[in-house]
Amino acid sequence: MLELENVTRRFGNLTAIDSVSTKVSSGHIHGLIGPNGSGKSTMMNLISGFLKPTTGSINFEGTRISGLKPHVVSRAGVVRTFQLIKVYSEATVRDNIRMAAIARLSPPWAPAGFLKNPGSKEIEGDVDRVLEIMKLGHVANQIAGILPGGMQRTLSVASAFVAKPKLLLLDEPLAGLNATEKAGLAASIREINKSGITILLVEHDMKTVLSLCSHMTVINFGKKIADGPPSDIVNSSAVIEAYLGS
Ligand code: ADP
Ligand code: MG
Repeated sequence: MLELENVTRRFGNLTAIDSVSTKVSSGHIHGLIGPNGSGKSTMMNLISGFLKPTTGSINFEGTRISGLKPHVVSRAGVVRTFQLIKVYSEATVRDNIRMAAIARLSPPWAPAGFLKNPGSKEIEGDVDRVLEIMKLGHVANQIAGILPGGMQRTLSVASAFVAKPKLLLLDEPLAGLNATEKAGLAASIREINKSGITILLVEHDMKTVLSLCSHMTVINFGKKIADGPPSDIVNSSAVIEAYLGS
């Protein structure tokens, strides 16, 4: 589904991503892990079009997407969340998700209110389904900005989910959540995947990734050091070394 070929990204003298090649196959929850500063968010920015590779190429479903603008990449079916939570804090949870659903149906040049029927049954049905899968139904009518951090994070994932991506990029969705919140959001991520969406998941915590992912790519100092099913990753000496050394 997604293929990176010798992708390199430099910031001045710093090589944040160093000739990385990897593939994400359809249907998987694919983990992207590595110590802090290893280049995970840069990789997400490259795939989603927020950064361009210095060299190398990224293909999605056989079409080159590297160099395309973020809204074009998302229209091709690659939708992301950010490491920092982004929600409309003055709108309700339901309105946040509805706005994301409407944005999916409007062309990028459209003014606000472009859709003739933003309250259509189809949109409300999608919003209800996402509220249920993400377990946000009980706070649907609350203002997003006053919810606890864990729920705001869940809401940002819900807003990406309702856009019906083929590939969903999640950058540390579980960071900073307490154990209960983590377990809840991890279960929702599994449900999203079961609904037919391929997921590329950045996560710092090895244990969580091992439990969620069917395939993993490990990077350290911008270089790929391991790629394979969890059973291979836990036995990789390069991975053990990178994690013990961090
Ligand atoms: P991770 O998400 O794995 O913690 P990042 O991708 O955020 O790592 O960062 C990788 C490296 O690239 C770090 O050394 C970081 O300081 C650097 N970096 C990331 N974005 C930029 C940028 N826009 N300009 C300069 N350096 C950057
Ligand atoms: Mg990061």
